[in-house]
Amino acid sequence: MTVTVATLGFPRIGPRRELKVALERFWSGKSDRAALLSTAAELRARTWARQAGLGVDHVPSNDFSLYDHVLDTSAMVGAVPAIYGWQGGPVGLDTYFAMARGAQGEAEHADCGHGCHHKAVDVPAAEMTKWFDTNYHYLVPEFSSGQAFALSSTKVVDEYLEAKAQGIATRPVLLGPVTFLKLGKSHTEGLHRRELLRALLPVYAEVLGRLAAAGAGWVQIDEPCLVLDLTAEDHALLAEAYAALAKAAPGIRLMLTTYFGALGDNLDAALALPVAGLHLDLIRAPAQLETVLARARPELVLSLGVVDGRNVWRADLEALLDRLEPVVASGREIVLAPSCSLLHTPIDLAQETALDADVRSWLAFAVQKIEELVTLARALNGGRAGVAGPLRDASAAAASRRTSPKIHDAAVSERLARVTAAMGRRPAGFAERRPLQAGQLGLPAFPTTTIGSFPQTEAVRKARSAHGKGSLSDADYEAFLREETARTVRWQESIGLDVLVHGEFERNDMVQYFGEQLSGFAFTKHGWVQSYGSRCVRPPILFGDVSRPKPMTVAWWSYAQGLTQRPMKGMLTGPVTILNWSFVRDDIPRALACRQTALAIRDEVVDLERAGAKIIQIDEAALREGLPLRRGDWDAYLAWAVESFRLTASGVADRTQIHTHMCYSEFNDIIAAIGDMDADVISIETARSRMELLGAFADYRYPAEIGPGVYDIHSPRVPAVAEMTELLQAARARLAADQLWVNPDCGLKTRKWPETEAALINMVAAAQAARAAA
Ligand code: GLN
Ligand code: ZN
Repeated sequence: MTVTVATLGFPRIGPRRELKVALERFWSGKSDRAALLSTAAELRARTWARQAGLGVDHVPSNDFSLYDHVLDTSAMVGAVPAIYGWQGGPVGLDTYFAMARGAQGEAEHADCGHGCHHKAVDVPAAEMTKWFDTNYHYLVPEFSSGQAFALSSTKVVDEYLEAKAQGIATRPVLLGPVTFLKLGKSHTEGLHRRELLRALLPVYAEVLGRLAAAGAGWVQIDEPCLVLDLTAEDHALLAEAYAALAKAAPGIRLMLTTYFGALGDNLDAALALPVAGLHLDLIRAPAQLETVLARARPELVLSLGVVDGRNVWRADLEALLDRLEPVVASGREIVLAPSCSLLHTPIDLAQETALDADVRSWLAFAVQKIEELVTLARALNGGRAGVAGPLRDASAAAASRRTSPKIHDAAVSERLARVTAAMGRRPAGFAERRPLQAGQLGLPAFPTTTIGSFPQTEAVRKARSAHGKGSLSDADYEAFLREETARTVRWQESIGLDVLVHGEFERNDMVQYFGEQLSGFAFTKHGWVQSYGSRCVRPPILFGDVSRPKPMTVAWWSYAQGLTQRPMKGMLTGPVTILNWSFVRDDIPRALACRQTALAIRDEVVDLERAGAKIIQIDEAALREGLPLRRGDWDAYLAWAVESFRLTASGVADRTQIHTHMCYSEFNDIIAAIGDMDADVISIETARSRMELLGAFADYRYPAEIGPGVYDIHSPRVPAVAEMTELLQAARARLAADQLWVNPDCGLKTRKWPETEAALINMVAAAQAARAAA
């Protein structure tokens, strides 16, 4: 039986972020709908042709999206909340983008088609959240009571036909109904998922019927919920759903795809479904292959996810062949694929001409991953000799990665070996540290501060980009940054903030800024990965042992502290956040890479203290989002994450106050771990939940100090003094007055100055009112 190659999805944004440019031009009114749609069609055509040209047998379609594939699914089934004023019929671009981004101004009613008068609209975007444990965000589907579903977008069929016209028979991709419902939310109590599913299945059946009529053979149906902790009810829903779909479209062969983890205790439920194929993530869960081979019925086609769709490392092809050859010899039909959609990897390594040649030789982006899969398939179908060259290259790269001095730094391993338990503990407990810190800081009750960054204005971004291009000299750039910093420090003093920050104007990004100064990190020029909609990030590549050649922030801190008598916070990004927002090496455990980073940041903490810093903030914005998908794996992660934080923070004297900051978190289920971090002060995002999140801290009897955000920095809105006073009162109802700090929810880098000034002046007034009332 011939081994074939599939990709489960390809990045949409384009090798030069063409889709981003087209979307943003369209949104700003600089181009029209036709221009946007033609760029999109061109990108799809190029992507299909490229994959087919590389030798992919199952080229995906409908993996493309103008914004998000979960939103596409909501549009497909007509799950559009009432506030968007959609009247049924095909979901048009206006409705689609209103759900994606909110809409303000004149509604065009492009969807209704008959000249009804224009109405002013002001609707918020649908809620957005992270797609499993990735940094990709999807739009949360919303269901209401009496929710009906109807086929409202034929995108999947249209794109199948579009590719077919180009001469490529694709395998359309659908988000499976059970995962779709699981990702959604309903505002109505008692809205049963079984009823929703029963209403939804006819739409899926209709879609499959239309795809069959259009000529589709295989259809990929993604049910990544199969790697989560599921209930018996979930298993029953899956059984009901797939029985219905198998019956509805007997001509279609469904490839049920699971990714981001092991099927584990869902395996039997998955193997019982009437589908033609099953995809397994063998990067996250390699051990499941043997179990599945033993239990799956012989005619079930297995799609093996053997190259990493979540990371950038080149595969060791010979080692993979050793593993795959016996599987193929057993006679089962095998498809080779990346572990998950390639959506989460950059597109093409060939664009990275400036990367260190050794580092480059260890990497594979989406295009290179496809080449690896094709090489593997050739070897399995025709013998290794036919692809001897590529196999040799892959082995050489793997060997060089095992031994390269660019990766393996003896000094780092020696230092790790010398780490003692005591290094992860402050000399004294919080109760003893507290008076020492209060003594040297002399702060009022309800001390005021901010989270670190101040507006990254057009001028700041322009100066950075000019400096990057070489048109602004080092000296001029430095002078510019000093002036911005000085102005910001003076302004904070003038409005009466108690603990100041330098503003972070010199930082491009809270992780990149540190990665660029640490050994062991590399950066790409075009390695963009979609985060949401048109927004992309370029994650650093953590490829080697991490160390800090020299101080990274001390000069800026000293300059800023020299401008004021008030305490200036040292401002650092913590090791867990650096790790969670990077592509991390896969040749050592994540915990170890984190520990190395912790030691490097610890050096900076100690140097800041030595330079005179009395308060040092270590941001762990991404600590919670690193939680594993399965509950059973949480404790292990939290143990090493907290240990890394403590290792970072514990090199200083008891009188030095350690702050940490976390945004967009639920704290209830990780509060014990937060307590174990043993920070002296934690600032958290609480304005949007109106202090509800503080409940977890109160129930836990959190001993240390807390700055619950009283000002939601995600919108330009300026909160009034009374509003923040009320929030402070709500906080006081839950915590002791002497535990509380007053600060915004997060950094202010995305805000503009006028609203920032007005809001912080109000915030200081609210703190003063709280002091007066105490
Ligand atoms: N110190 C950072 C800032 O203020 C924290 C950002 C974050 O938590 N995402 O920008
Ligand atoms: Zn934050």
